[in-house]
Amino acid sequence: MLSVQGIQKIYSTTGGGGVEAVRDLTFDLRKGEFACLVGPSGSGKTTLLKVISGLMGATKGQVVLDGKVVDGPPRNMALVFQEYGRSLYPWMRVAENVELPLKVAGVGKDERKARVAEALEAVGLAHVPKSYPWQLSGGMQQRVAIARAVAYQPEVLLMDEPFAAVDAQTRADLEDLVRSVWAKLGLTVLFVTHDIDESVYLGERVIILSSSPTVILEDLAIDLPVERDQLETRSDPRFVELRHHVYEQIQKAKTYTGDTGTVRTVA
Ligand code: ADP
Ligand code: MG
Repeated sequence: MLSVQGIQKIYSTTGGGGVEAVRDLTFDLRKGEFACLVGPSGSGKTTLLKVISGLMGATKGQVVLDGKVVDGPPRNMALVFQEYGRSLYPWMRVAENVELPLKVAGVGKDERKARVAEALEAVGLAHVPKSYPWQLSGGMQQRVAIARAVAYQPEVLLMDEPFAAVDAQTRADLEDLVRSVWAKLGLTVLFVTHDIDESVYLGERVIILSSSPTVILEDLAIDLPVERDQLETRSDPRFVELRHHVYEQIQKAKTYTGDTGTVRTVA
């Protein structure tokens, strides 16, 4: 469904030269798959999502969605950012924020109302359609952002560290919310996080990135039951094992030296 082929991104800098954020990334997502991309801070995760979503061009390589090369934001894709505060319009009510992309896409009024109501219901915000974002807690604002993405009914949902700024309890709730929306709607999800536990808890697959200039260190299948539970799953010995493995890889990732093409481990 989504094919990321040999992506390299070098940001040009004012002093000439450039910053090589991503070196060479290749992977495919199957339709309906839930994949997590985990890597240290600064490893180019946001850069990659911007390239995949067509917001920014790559230096080398290409992204192919449904057999078509991505050269601008694809219609059947939605992106949820980390900074929900900045992604919602403060002068629009909750329902209006959720409705906006549907209007832009030319969806008819009745259909829009129905989809907005359904999405708000799905994220547990059916009671606040007329509130303004700034009247809501951080976790609720992030739910609005998720509702907006869901109402749009994308085939591919990209999420960039969407829960980094909410408290632990809210985060757990939002994790389960995203899994249930995924299961219900059959979306293809690429979820970016620097949190190892979160990547293993959420993903059917975890793609582990090195630090910048970035390559893929491992593409790991998460063989946990589809039905996840915050207490049961996290205390499952297999979860602990997988988490441990990803942690070790990330430690290596931090000391990966892109120049020699080898992975150094610290003594
Ligand atoms: P992550 O999301 O994994 O934390 P980013 O994609 O934000 O990583 O950044 C990867 C690297 O690219 C970092 O070294 C960052 O400083 C650099 N970078 C990001 N955006 C720009 C930009 N617009 N111009 C120059 N360098 C950038
Ligand atoms: Mg980022």
